[in-house]
Amino acid sequence: MDPIKTDAIVLRVVEFSETSCIVTLFTRTLGKISTIAKGARRKKSPFEAALDLIAICRIVFLHKSSQTLDILTEAKLQRRFRSSATDLDRFYAGLYLIELLNLLTDDADPHEDLFNEAISAIGQIDRCDDLETGDAGPRRLSTQHVLIHFEIRLLDLLGHLPMLTNCVDCGRVKTTISRVQFGLDRGGIICQNCRPGKTNVVSLSSEGLELLLKMTRTKTSLVRTVDGPAEDLMDVSCHTGYREVRQLISKYITHLIGHPPRLHQYLGNLSN
Ligand SMILES: [Zn+2]
Repeated sequence: MDPIKTDAIVLRVVEFSETSCIVTLFTRTLGKISTIAKGARRKKSPFEAALDLIAICRIVFLHKSSQTLDILTEAKLQRRFRSSATDLDRFYAGLYLIELLNLLTDDADPHEDLFNEAISAIGQIDRCDDLETGDAGPRRLSTQHVLIHFEIRLLDLLGHLPMLTNCVDCGRVKTTISRVQFGLDRGGIICQNCRPGKTNVVSLSSEGLELLLKMTRTKTSLVRTVDGPAEDLMDVSCHTGYREVRQLISKYITHLIGHPPRLHQYLGNLSN
């Protein structure tokens, strides 16, 4: 069993014994892993401050192929989530992001693109972009703005992006210009013919559908290149239909998880 070295985001830390913790991490190379960090609760821990929630660290661990926990042997802090002590809104947004990663990804299922999106989104929320220096990047996005882009990228990269151009049941191309019905169970829009008898259906205006389509089609990424934003991110918050899209995505994610994310209740009043 060779040790694996990779970058990771701390998703969850649970006390396990007097000296140890169980730490869930989202790693660059192996996706989500659950590890035991022996000695993490000691005063002089080998992990120091690396195992705080939303922290990004460089880890070394021993991967067990069976059902047992992996063993975390090293964790070095790369970037602390600074807003946890200074800004409650940003802290909640960061906690929401790791809650989504924890609930919607499977163990040992690698998604490097999603890892990069998460790192960028966390940097944006925490107002620091550079992993090495913690410097702020050239352009700031609002927390709401970062979250909705992250949610859509997450759905896309995990294969949950809803069907929006054709009826998800019969495949008929959407022709009506009025409101459409969106089936949460089915993961897409439903035509008039297929609508009867369906439950968990929400209605969406044509403006809302248009905006959602735009956001899913452009595949805009939060990941920046060295020279600046990889692509110009559409500022969606001023668009007609934004509130509707926001609500639909929240309901859809709730449906995928099977219950509302714990942090949903704290996100209602994000102001910046
Ligand atoms: Zn249909």
